[in-house]
Formats: sequence, C-alpha cells, structure tokens
Amino acid sequence: MSDGSRNDVDVLIVGAGMGGLTTALALHQRGISCRIHESVRELRPLGVGINLLPHAMALLDQLGVADAAAAIAVQTAELAYYNRHGQLIWSEPRGRLAGYPAPQLSIHRGYLQLLLRDAVVERLGADAIVMGQALTDVATDADGAVATFALRDGGSATVRAPIVVAADGIHSVARERLYPGQGAVGYGGRMLWRATTQAAPYLGGRTMIMAGHSRQKFVCYPITEPDAAGLQTINWIAELAVERDTPPAQDWSRRVETSLFREPFADWRFPWLDVPALIDGAEAVYEYPLTDREPLERWTDGCVTLLGDAAHAMYPIGSNGASQSILDALALATAVAEHGATAAALLAYEVERREPTTRIVLANRGNGPEQVMELAEQRAPEGFDDIEQVIPRVELEEIAAQYKQLAGFAINQVEGK
Ligand SMILES: Cc1cc2nc3c(=O)[nH]c(=O)nc-3n(C[C@H](O)[C@H](O)[C@H](O)COP(=O)(O)OP(=O)(O)OC[C@H]3O[C@@H](n4cnc5c(N)ncnc54)[C@H](O)[C@@H]3O)c2cc1C
Repeated sequence: MSDGSRNDVDVLIVGAGMGGLTTALALHQRGISCRIHESVRELRPLGVGINLLPHAMALLDQLGVADAAAAIAVQTAELAYYNRHGQLIWSEPRGRLAGYPAPQLSIHRGYLQLLLRDAVVERLGADAIVMGQALTDVATDADGAVATFALRDGGSATVRAPIVVAADGIHSVARERLYPGQGAVGYGGRMLWRATTQAAPYLGGRTMIMAGHSRQKFVCYPITEPDAAGLQTINWIAELAVERDTPPAQDWSRRVETSLFREPFADWRFPWLDVPALIDGAEAVYEYPLTDREPLERWTDGCVTLLGDAAHAMYPIGSNGASQSILDALALATAVAEHGATAAALLAYEVERREPTTRIVLANRGNGPEQVMELAEQRAPEGFDDIEQVIPRVELEEIAAQYKQLAGFAINQVEGK
C-alpha cells in the first residue's frame, strides 16, 4: 500500500466519463489544477447514442469543444411522438431550428467521451488522467479528502487532495461510502435493448422519434451524417415492460440476441419507418434495464461530493443524463473558482444543482415529456383520425413546455453563443 503520496492538485476527480472529463476541462479553464483517476485500463468507445441538449451544448461551447462534437454528430432538428400504429401525436422543432442559441446533438456516447478525453490530455497533459485505478474508499479528515484506489496491476494507492469530486457513474462507490444503505439501483419494470444500424435516412435525416407507450416503445435517431453510400448510423432503443422480482444486471456492454424482444415489434412497419428492418440490421444489441437511483438528501460530505450519475442517475427519458452531468461540471468549477478548493465550494455547488436534478429524476419516473404517448394509448388505443379529438394541442404544448422548464432548457434558460 502506498500512502498519501500525491497531494499535488486542488481537485481530485474520480471517473473519466462525461461528467468527470467535463469537470476537468472546466476547472482547467479557471486555472484550477485537477487530476482524474479512472478504473478501466483504457477508454474504448462504449455505449451507443446519447443526446446533448442546447443548455449543455452552450456550456461545451464555452469549453471550446462544441464544434468538435458537432463535427461527429447530427444536429437534431425535430422530436416526434407517435402511437403504436405509427400515427403522429406531437412533433416539435429542436435545437437551433426551435430558436435556441445552441444546437441539440445526437452523438455516439463513446466517441464523445474520447473527444473529451483528448481535449483533457491536450490541455492538461497526459498525466491528468490516471488509468486503471478503481476507487475503493473516500473520506474527509482534518487535512482534506483522502481517497483509496485499487490498482489494476495489484496493490492499492492512497491519494490526498483538498477536495474530491466523485463522478463514478450509476454504481458509484463514493456514493455508497458517503451514504451507505441507500438501497440497490431502482428497476423501473422495463428492459431496454440498444443498438445502432446503418440505414437510409428517414423523415429527412434529423428527426428523433418515439413510438408506442410506456409498456412497449421504440425510440430512434440518427447519430451520423449520411456516408458515401447515403446511409446514416441510426441509434435505436426497443423497450418492453418486463416484470422482475430482482433488478436485472446493469452492464452497459451486455450483448444479447434480438429474439428476446423482436416479436412484439414485428408488425411495426410504418410508411415512414420500418422498425423490424432496423432491428434485423443491427450488428450488436445491448440489454440494459430501466434504472435510476433514489434522490439523495445530500451529495456533499465534508471535502467530498458526487457529480453526474453518481449523484442523480435518472431514467433515460427526456435526453437528460449526459446533459445534466455537463451542467454539474460547470457549476462545480464555477463554485471552486469562487470559494477555492474547499468544502464551502462543494456545498455551493450542491445548493445549485441538487434540487433541479432531483426534480428531473422524479419527473422521469412519471415518463417526463413522453406522457403524451401514454395519454394517446389510454384515450385511443386503436388509433385516431384526428389527434385534436384525443389530446387537444394546448395540452400537448403544456406537457412539452413544462418538462423543458423543469429540466432547464426552455429557450429563456439557455445561455447563447
Ligand atoms: C460503458 C458505458 C456505456 C454507456 N452507454 C450509454 C448509452 O449507450 N446510452 C446512455 O444513455 N447512457 C450510457 N451510459 C451512461 C452515460 O454515459 C451517463 O448516464 C451520462 O453520460 C453521465 O455521465 P457520468 O460521467 O456521470 O457517468 P458515466 O458515463 O457512467 O462515467 C462514469 C465513469 O466512472 C468510471 N468509474 C466507475 N467506477 C469507478 C471507480 N470505482 N473508480 C474510478 N472510476 C470509476 C467508469 O469507468 C466511467 O468511465 C454509459 C456509461 C458507461 C460507463
């Protein structure tokens, strides 16, 4: 066991996911030294598609990485909800087309992570990310924060810093150490099968669609511009209600066969999208349960705090997971710039971010903006001739507007370029 070796940075960050990497960039921009300790030996482009909402994009722009992200993504122009018969319930423009000062991006999670990693290495140096160190314990003592890591090559290391920011994801060890007995990851009763398929553009090539209702849903959106053959990488998620007594395995990289879920979607061939063809065209399909964590009453304990999914893992509804971790990162860095690398800075950050993110976790449990699909299924399960007779436009508008306000991306809440 090596001890107390490196107290050479102001902020020690645990985890090189979206939250940890963005925190490093934001701290560095403010002249605050930091280092990330990441458990895996090597970052690989894992995961499939995610969305970055305009409020998060405005912050990535401040960090000087928005253009690079946009270059490997699709600027989402529209979000459209359909019933299970493929009939349109509601659609709205997104990103710049909706009048935001920043775009909404649909992007491959793994490539975004590598892009942020490269920016950290370029600006802070190769030593700024230490790989192969898994946090096993973290606490505050009279001299600040102390973190212990298991080394992939054997042994352990204890590292001191004035403050520790734990961005170690939904299974956060730091969360368990600070707030033990908070219970397992919560299972929302639905399984998600995620994949990408190379396919011809649908609905103009920039539309995110959701079809169905809370017990059977299909979501898809393109994450690359058309290639030389005119094909886009289409990210898709098939979702079914699956009752389980115990929460299923939560492994982002668990590969399964399409036979587990294809049949219920077999007749979802709409004039504007062929769902079975997308499912059949996938190279690899990953299974992940709908899960979140119970909101915490506190994130900060002395000189240690939580950030991103470690603090507020939420159902992937409303495209908020990655965006909220980016908002956390900027709030944290701003607080440290103001209060120094102190417990007071961590509390200021928590005051700004804990309540808003708790509201999103809870709203997502009620299906967030996807309530419109639920209402259509309840009120007109066999379909409709005129959506206005099923859900008046004013009701649809209100649901969409309420969620944007709650998640902090109503137009008046987004800082412009
Ligand atoms: C491999 C992977 C694939 C994913 N794929 C998708 C996807 O397809 N779609 C989607 O919506 N979301 C996906 N996510 C989740 C998504 O990235 C997050 O919801 C969101 O971006 C918030 O990011 P975060 O930094 O808080 O957490 P994460 O992105 O989960 O990052 C956490 C980081 O901490 C590291 N870590 C974990 N435990 C320790 C430890 N004990 N010590 C040190 N480091 C540790 C992890 O290796 C990871 O790099 C994925 C996450 C991972 C880790």
